[in-house]
Amino acid sequence: MADNPMLKFVQRTQSYPDKRPAQDRADDFGEIYRSFETARAEEQAARCSQCGVPYCSTHCPLHNHIPDWLRLTTEGRLREAYELSNATSTMPEICGRICPQDRLCEGNCVIEFSGHGAVTIGSVEKFITDTAWEQGWVEPLAPGAPTGQSVGIIGAGPAGLSAAEYLRAAGHEVHVYDRHDRAGGLLTYGIPGFKLEKEVVMRRVKRLEDGGIQFHLSFDVGNDATIAELRQKHDALLIATGVYKARDIRAPGVGAPGVVKALDYLTASNRAGFGETVPEHEDGSLFAAGKDVIVVGGGDTAMDCVRTAIRQGAKSVKCLYRRDRANMPGSQREVANAEEEGVEFVWLSAPIAFEGTEAVTGVRITKMRLGAPDASGRRAPEPDPGSEATLPADLVIKALGFDPEELPRLFGDPDLSVTRWGTLRVDHKTMMTSLDGVFGAGDIVRGASLVVWAIRDGLDVADRMQAYLKAKAQAGGVKVAA
Ligand code: FAD
Ligand code: SF4
Ligand code: SF4
Repeated sequence: MADNPMLKFVQRTQSYPDKRPAQDRADDFGEIYRSFETARAEEQAARCSQCGVPYCSTHCPLHNHIPDWLRLTTEGRLREAYELSNATSTMPEICGRICPQDRLCEGNCVIEFSGHGAVTIGSVEKFITDTAWEQGWVEPLAPGAPTGQSVGIIGAGPAGLSAAEYLRAAGHEVHVYDRHDRAGGLLTYGIPGFKLEKEVVMRRVKRLEDGGIQFHLSFDVGNDATIAELRQKHDALLIATGVYKARDIRAPGVGAPGVVKALDYLTASNRAGFGETVPEHEDGSLFAAGKDVIVVGGGDTAMDCVRTAIRQGAKSVKCLYRRDRANMPGSQREVANAEEEGVEFVWLSAPIAFEGTEAVTGVRITKMRLGAPDASGRRAPEPDPGSEATLPADLVIKALGFDPEELPRLFGDPDLSVTRWGTLRVDHKTMMTSLDGVFGAGDIVRGASLVVWAIRDGLDVADRMQAYLKAKAQAGGVKVAA
């Protein structure tokens, strides 16, 4: 009997693509992981034991056909592997780069539980689709037969773009509105290049443009049009605007120059990465070179800020977090990367005041200790009396997370219903908001989440909008956009 090419997890040890040396990568914004070579991808894919009930797929929000494309990769049938992985995802190479695999597919691989180390699913996924782009296997977006119906999508992040792709393929005229001058949402202006190089996002956007999706950029819904105007123009509308209201710190001196918001800082850096002249870099207000930088927060955004500051040539970079390492929300992989690059973590610490008159000069901190679990089950941090100290800082970046903006007020429609957290209230079956024909998807419905969940929502909402549009067409209500 021929040898089974799979199930090699005992003979072959787990290996991820090589990382560039920390010294090297601190000098630029290029991705830190190199790509798999074909032989290595095949070898690693062959570690999969082809489970009958693949927990990796169950725990992938897109339910990707992981064991099948791993097998095809091992067999050298890369084009088929790509087609299969593309069948359930609009951006497999992006998910392969930035999904927190340790909490999703890889964290639930049975081989991980058996102590051999998970199959390196994300890296193989990235390899397959990057190869498809290189080989020209990624097909243009083919619009379906025209339906005569028009859809408006507010927000060009992963949720909006995924919905746009499927609705265009179904033959609708698709208009995407975004307040930024480039599409991609947080893929473009939030996540730094060392995790996701911008060409990877831009080639996806170009494919959508080439497929006839019409982008209206620098178009701020609420200022440039009301929701009522867009409803007039389109047969159905999707709100996929993400969450952008930065949480603040309540402490004296927080308004001092030099205390800045994480997303302003990351957006400026990403703009510079596109080759733009960024005034806030020129005047130093959002630039870390030569400064003592303190980032407050322990999530992915904080990790992105500390590592950006290292690349900008900061004198020192500290991350202040009120819980300990085991209880931080950010990915452990990113913490390890940050430490390698020279970031110092100050665990169990919180700011109580910002010092300096003209500009911030230091952060007064208190040590924290973990008390009894709170409502979420996590141990609540509380100040440790008598443990105050001052850390020098001339740039402080607040990275405490995001809440939704006040959409009913912003969009000029009080009938748009939101939850007590400000997220859009949608019917879970139809994904429709309180306004007829207006749907919601992505972070604005879930609260701050992940790219892969935004993609999943985008695909699901496209399906629900399709059903709505079909019913509308049958009822004779077709409206063609101006
Ligand atoms: P977004 O990506 O936020 O896109 C929303 C779009 O709507 C934006 O382009 C915005 O300009 C536009 N918009 C908003 N309001 C209006 C308006 N009024 N008019 C017109 N346009 C509007 N997730 C991961 O999986 N892995 C990671 O490594 C990761 N890193 C992250 C790093 C940072 C710094 C941040 C902030 C988030 C990170 N995330 C990560 C989370 C992830 O980026 C989001 O969950 C995801 O982008 C949400 O997609 P979305 O389409 O719902 O919204
Ligand atoms: Fe894993 Fe994310 Fe890819 Fe799913 S989309 S297989 S969770 S990397
Ligand atoms: Fe393969 Fe792991 Fe998925 Fe099982 S859980 S099918 S071994 S990748």
